[in-house]
Amino acid sequence: MAALAPQTVLDVRHWTDRLFSFKTTRDASFRFENGQFVMIGLAVNGKPLLRAYSMASANHEESLEFFSIKVPNGPLTSQLSKISKGDEILVGAKPTGTLVQASLLPGKRLYLVATGTGVAPFTSVIKDPEIYERFDVVVLIHGCRFIEELSFGREVVESLKDDEYLSEIIGDRLIYYPTVTREDYLHRGRVTELLDTGIVARDTGLPALDAAEDRVMICGGPAVLADMCGLLDARGFEEGALSKPGTYVIEKAFVER
Ligand code: FAD
Repeated sequence: MAALAPQTVLDVRHWTDRLFSFKTTRDASFRFENGQFVMIGLAVNGKPLLRAYSMASANHEESLEFFSIKVPNGPLTSQLSKISKGDEILVGAKPTGTLVQASLLPGKRLYLVATGTGVAPFTSVIKDPEIYERFDVVVLIHGCRFIEELSFGREVVESLKDDEYLSEIIGDRLIYYPTVTREDYLHRGRVTELLDTGIVARDTGLPALDAAEDRVMICGGPAVLADMCGLLDARGFEEGALSKPGTYVIEKAFVER
């Protein structure tokens, strides 16, 4: 397979003025693990302009899906946010990343903690039947500033109820915990604070975070990652990697440039 494969855009949805998602064709030879990311982009002035993107779709699905920010004047997203059905995007051949099951030791409960577009790898992970074999309960915590920014993740979670195969496997073992910081909602506050103060445990009825039984995957901005690592390290969790599985793993949702 070539290093970059052109794929055709099948569908684009704009969720807010800052967020959109799109589906593309997928080569049968393009294999990935749920939770991984790949370089994608556009040919700009004849040269590929690429950025890391998590697959928001699961590896058993026919098409690929991505969930994207629109950065004003961002080199890639100022162009990418204008794509429409039938356009071509470039998809790299080498998916990678740490938010995969093999980076985590076995446990009872899996917490998926995301902010913003960091939910993308987890909309893939929650569709993975194997995750429900490995864990009794999966908790998806998604923090955004505003309610409308939760829409993509919420719709994927809701779609699982209509999936004949997955709904049977998942049953009531997927707990969705959306929270916003800037307006009133079901849950309000930063994901780190809600976990640290035990509010998530209180609201879900689950035990307080426990390194012996809980496993955590985190995908967010630099501040959330730093706070979550501090919170987990203080509770005896150990960061894992493919080479040495641990009790939590992190991935940057983006890098500051
Ligand atoms: P850039 O020059 O890349 O970014 C400009 C600035 O915008 C950055 O300094 C940062 O402050 C801000 N920014 C960039 N991306 C984001 C974001 N996602 N959320 C909030 N602020 C941001 N982006 C996605 O939209 N979806 C993904 O699934 C995704 N997966 C990623 C996975 C990894 C491992 C990494 C490292 C990054 C990922 N990103 C993702 C970020 C992505 O690679 C680009 O940065 C983003 O598409 C913006 O590209 P740009 O060229 O327009 O602007």
